Amino acid sequence: MTDSDLRAVDIIAKKQRGESLTRREISWFVQGSARGVIPDYQISAFLMAVYFKSMDLRETRDLVEAMIASGEVLALKSIRATKVDKHSTGGVGDKISLIVGPLVASVGVHVPMVSGRALGHTGGTLDKLESIPGFRTDLGPAEFERAVKRVGIAIIGQTDKIAPADRKFYAIRDVTSTIVCPPLIVSSILSKKIASGTDAIVFDIKAGNGAFMGTASQAVELAKLLTRVAAMLGKRTSAIVTRMDEPLGHCVGNAIEIRESIEVLKGRWVEDLVTVSLALGSEMLLLAGRAKTRSEALTLLRSALLGGKGLQKFRDMVKAQHGDVSVVADPAKLPRPRATVRLLSPRNGFVSHIEAMEVGRIAILLGAGRVKSEDDVDPAAGIEFLKKRGDRVVKGEVLALLHTRNARTGRRCAGLLEKAISFSSRRPEPRPLVIGKVIGDGLKQLDGAGSGKTASLR
Ligand code: URA
Repeated sequence: MTDSDLRAVDIIAKKQRGESLTRREISWFVQGSARGVIPDYQISAFLMAVYFKSMDLRETRDLVEAMIASGEVLALKSIRATKVDKHSTGGVGDKISLIVGPLVASVGVHVPMVSGRALGHTGGTLDKLESIPGFRTDLGPAEFERAVKRVGIAIIGQTDKIAPADRKFYAIRDVTSTIVCPPLIVSSILSKKIASGTDAIVFDIKAGNGAFMGTASQAVELAKLLTRVAAMLGKRTSAIVTRMDEPLGHCVGNAIEIRESIEVLKGRWVEDLVTVSLALGSEMLLLAGRAKTRSEALTLLRSALLGGKGLQKFRDMVKAQHGDVSVVADPAKLPRPRATVRLLSPRNGFVSHIEAMEVGRIAILLGAGRVKSEDDVDPAAGIEFLKKRGDRVVKGEVLALLHTRNARTGRRCAGLLEKAISFSSRRPEPRPLVIGKVIGDGLKQLDGAGSGKTASLR
C-alpha cells in the first residue's frame, strides 16, 4: 500500500470506532496536518475521535514520534553537558518556568526550554514572555543553541521548525474542547520537549480544579504515561504532582506575571512560587548530575535566589532573546492596562478559597487569553490578588485588581471574580502544595519540599 491509499476521513472513522491506528496512519495524518494538506475541520474531527476513544501506549508513542518528525530535532551538539528542561501540564498563575529556568541555569545547568501558549483556562509561558517589548520566542535553531550555550537558558515556542504539528494541534485543541485527553497532552508535551534537544525533563503535573487533571490520582495516571513514553524514547524524567486549586502567586495574566517573576528573583518571598520552584528545580539539578542529594540541590538554589544569580540569568536571557532588559530593573515599563477595576471584600473574615479554574476563565474575558485561536492576547490584561487564601480581610478592603482594556468589562469580571472567592470566619488550615513525586505506581513525598524560608533566611 502506498501513502496515496490513505484518506483522512477513513483514519478519523477508524479512531471513531475505537480501533488502534497503525504507525503509518498516525504518521501520515500528522505530517498532512503540519504541512497544511489536511484541513482544520478534519484535524478537529480526528482530535475529537482521539479525545473520546483515546490511544494505547504504542499509538501514543507513535504519535509523539510523528509529531517530532513533523519538524527538526535540535541536536545541541555543541553543549556536551546534560541538558534539562521542565514542563508544567498547565495551571493558573503558573509562572514557575520563568523563575526556575533562570535559577537552575544560574548554577550551571543548561536549560533548552520549548514552551507553549495559553491553553484553555491556563496561561502560556510564551504569551507571558512576549509581553516584554522586543522579546523573541521564535529564535531559529542555531540562535537557540548559541543562546543556551552562552547564557545557559533560552525559552522558545514550537515554531514551524520545532514540532509544527503540535503548534497546529495545540491551537485547534484550545478551541474545540479537546485538551483534557492524556495521549494528546503527552504527545504535545513530549514532541516539543524532545525536539528541543533536551536529555532530561522534569514534569510538573498539576492536580486540582484549576488543572486539566482534577484529582491527584488522575495526575498520577498522566505522570505514568508521560514518564513511560519518554523512557521508550530514551529520555530521563521525573514527575512531581503539585496542587492547582488556587492561582499560583498573586498575579494571573501576562505582563503582570513577568513582573511577579522578576520580583521573586529579586528576593520577594512569595511562598507558593518559591516552594514549587525549589521542588522542581532540585529535581532538575539531580537529573543533570549537578547535585548528589536534594538537600545539596536546595542549598544551591536557595543561595542563587537570595544572592541574585537567578535574576542576573533572567536578564541575560531577555537580552539574548532581543527583549528590552530595562524592564528587569523597572517592571513599570511593561505594558500597562487601559483600565483597572478594584474588587472590594464583601465581608470581614479570612479568604478561604480562590477558585483557580474560574480565575483562569475570567482572565480570558479580561483579554489575557484566547477565545478563538486567531485572537491576540492583551499583554497588560489580568488579575492581581492583594489577598490570598489564609489572609485576613476587612469589609471594603481591596481583594484584587482587574486589569483590562475597558472599565465595563472590568466591572463585569469583578462581579464574576467575587463569586470565585470564598470566605470563612476562621483562618483555613495550610495545605501542602507539593503532593509528591511519582515513583512506580505511587506517590512519594519529597523530603524538604517546603520553601525553606525559615532555614535559609535566619
Ligand atoms: N502543556 C502542553 O504543552 N500541552 C498540553 O497539551 C498541555 C499542557
